[in-house]
Amino acid sequence: MFRFRQAGEVALVLLVTFIASNVQAQTIKRDDAGSDLASGVLLDRLSTKHYKTWHAIRKVIYAEDADGKPLHPMLKALLEQLQTSDHSVYLEFDDSRAGCRCVAGKFSIERVDPEGSRNVAVIKLYLRVIEQAPAPVRANLKHDFAPLAGLNKLDRYAEVLGHEMAHAVDILFSLERTKRVDEMFRKSDQVIQQGLRPKGSIEPEMERALQERDAFLEELEKPAGIAEAVVWRELVKSRRKRKGLTKKKDAEQAIQRPSLVLASATIMPAAN
Ligand SMILES: [Zn+2]
Repeated sequence: MFRFRQAGEVALVLLVTFIASNVQAQTIKRDDAGSDLASGVLLDRLSTKHYKTWHAIRKVIYAEDADGKPLHPMLKALLEQLQTSDHSVYLEFDDSRAGCRCVAGKFSIERVDPEGSRNVAVIKLYLRVIEQAPAPVRANLKHDFAPLAGLNKLDRYAEVLGHEMAHAVDILFSLERTKRVDEMFRKSDQVIQQGLRPKGSIEPEMERALQERDAFLEELEKPAGIAEAVVWRELVKSRRKRKGLTKKKDAEQAIQRPSLVLASATIMPAAN
């Protein structure tokens, strides 16, 4: 999970907000999930509006320099690993303004395939939260990783997507890891439920289960954080090149305007 957390009272005084990336993979077993699901990155859960947003993000992912070299190889590799896999990874975008303002993205598993090759999972982006999340304004963009710093709206979406795709690749592509995530969250959910009973005597066990879960979450964050830092750097580095290319493209289109009038509307190809 890509989570924003304010540092309590200190944050109120200094207006400092820092980001702690936290995966909160949750497992929901769905008995009715069929085995004939489509695979790859699936867009079925996107509205028409969000479908357009996805295509704009996809354009960022596949952007190339003037020589046709990918500008964002890490982002592209993560997407293509998921796209060509047998797993089903649904994309969901939420642009509501209500609810928690601290979570920007979430990776969750809906169904675990006992054989490990056809898991069903969801990557959810909270678009409004991503847009409005504070980023360090004085970050040195050439050195330290400063999440979301220096990025426009679409690039911010792409960075958070990169983080969640890294979780997906890290977890779904290892049967052992997928099962561990599944077991860990089922166990902690069960213990929490028991602990909520009025006269439950489960407290020490609950505490231990939660500690174990938190330690595991921290472990899961590491690869996602490393991938996200690479993605952020790619996006920051490519900004000028992309601007230059857009200007060049605009200039070319301006010159070729008469032939464009005759051209029919182009429909973007589907992503999957
Ligand atoms: Zn995370």
